[in-house]
Amino acid sequence: MIAAFIVMAVEGSTLGLLSWMIEPLFDRVFGPDGGGEILWVGLAILGLFVLRAITTIVSRSLLTLVSVRIASAMQVDMLAHILRQSGGFFQNHPPGALMDRVQGDTTAVQGIWQTVIVSAGRDIVALIGLFAVAIAIDPQWTLAALIGAPLLIVPAVVLQRYLRRKSVQLREATAARSTRLDEIFHGINAIKLNRLETYQSTRFLTTVRALNRAYSKSIVAAQTMPAMIDIVTGLGFFAVLMLGGREVAEGERTVGEFMSFFTAMTLTFQPIRRLGEVAGTWQIAAASLERIFRLLDTDTEERRPDAQPLPAATQSPGIEFRDVHFAYPGVPVLNGLSFTAPAGRMTAIVGPSGAGKSTIFHLLTALAEPVAGDILIDGHPATRLTLPDQRALFATVSQDTALFDESLRENILLGRPDIPEDRLSSVTQAAQLADLLSTLPGGLDAPAGPRGSALSGGQRQRIAIARALVADAPVLLLDEATSALDSRSEAAVAEALASLAKGRTTLVIAHRLSTVREADQILVLDKGRVVEQGRHDDLIAQGGLYAGLYALQFKD
Ligand code: ADP
Repeated sequence: MIAAFIVMAVEGSTLGLLSWMIEPLFDRVFGPDGGGEILWVGLAILGLFVLRAITTIVSRSLLTLVSVRIASAMQVDMLAHILRQSGGFFQNHPPGALMDRVQGDTTAVQGIWQTVIVSAGRDIVALIGLFAVAIAIDPQWTLAALIGAPLLIVPAVVLQRYLRRKSVQLREATAARSTRLDEIFHGINAIKLNRLETYQSTRFLTTVRALNRAYSKSIVAAQTMPAMIDIVTGLGFFAVLMLGGREVAEGERTVGEFMSFFTAMTLTFQPIRRLGEVAGTWQIAAASLERIFRLLDTDTEERRPDAQPLPAATQSPGIEFRDVHFAYPGVPVLNGLSFTAPAGRMTAIVGPSGAGKSTIFHLLTALAEPVAGDILIDGHPATRLTLPDQRALFATVSQDTALFDESLRENILLGRPDIPEDRLSSVTQAAQLADLLSTLPGGLDAPAGPRGSALSGGQRQRIAIARALVADAPVLLLDEATSALDSRSEAAVAEALASLAKGRTTLVIAHRLSTVREADQILVLDKGRVVEQGRHDDLIAQGGLYAGLYALQFKD
């Protein structure tokens, strides 16, 4: 930045020098015996232009380098910060809006350094040089040239405020557009199946119109400042002509002096205009900067002050919920939930939809924190663990497992390149993936497609099982899908799960008959509490909620 600034200052000073050359040009070169100097003045002017050309290239390259690096650093910092946010943050900030924060806001700011340094370095230096020349020629004329300047003050302040407001609206509208597009493309099948193409296009039109309104207003406002400067400059020229023109006509001043002054004034025109634009650009960038800082200032996930590193390898810990309360804003979910999941055993969780089954998994994996009550892992409060340690205890398997648009190998290893090839192949065997891999071109290196779309539900689930095997976490959280797999996939998944669950504490949100029957313990959840608890036969004999659910779900 400093280097660019210096080069810019050199570039800016060429303007003053240029106007200064005009006086000898008129008064000596064009004078009675000036013919001999014509070559030198010509070469000097040519030299100034060459200097300008070189400094322009050098300074622009430096500035581009600086602004691009700043933008990259900001984007990486922002993503790192966003990744450390808790679950609630992502409920309030849809993915599209976050994408726009990371990309749009940083790009809006990226240009500002360039603009500010160009103006500070080149334009301010140019103006100082040009006014020095002007004052040297005639201070009175200079004063006359500036006659309209005070007229600018009030409108400038009003304009800046207006522009800031419009820029904020513009950024919000851009984020809204990204969110709409994100939702449309992720929901593309639902849109097609419900024939919502026209409806979505119309809604999108409204979003885009709002954006374009804000955009036009901010651009017009940003251009109003230079336009006002034009008028004030016109006034200045008029005043100088009235004052100076008369003095030249009366022979008090030379034509050369007047032309030199006039050139200096003409050359101030562009820098002043640009400074007017900078004020506008700054407001636009400031709106984005403010949003960036607001995001960077949000707290990251709770730091857990008394967290300690995980004690030596815990063999499949037991899990206990003790009077746990949890609520989403305005929606109480768990109301004093207590249960124990014994170490190394399978606990099935059943209950009506909305009972809070998935919430138990979210609390265990610290995607959400209880409002009150304790979660004990191996007898110790979970809050004593750091978030990464707590999460490392659990492997989650569900049918809507998130896959990334990478190879199956990368999807299974998830950034653990140190897993040896023979272990990987025993994992894929155990996860019943061998058949699938043999049919795929490229085997493990075949792509999973965007969001894993190249794989079926059962295949995705088996990838998740393979992940869990690789992670070798002591506790297994299994979310059985409600939608039935075909019987061959189901058999394959069941077999894979059996090898995964062996020896691990397992909590399963159960929908399958085989799972509920074989579970060591069944918890029946209703409205965020355990209402029944026991083995299958006992619960059937009780004839309560479980017996009813069972009859309803498994009557076939
Ligand atoms: P289950 O898995 O038993 O079907 P969940 O644990 O998913 O139930 O949800 C329990 C309750 O929490 C439901 O009433 C649901 O509406 C509510 N809920 C779940 N997620 C959210 C959320 N992100 N925001 C607000 N309420 C939620």
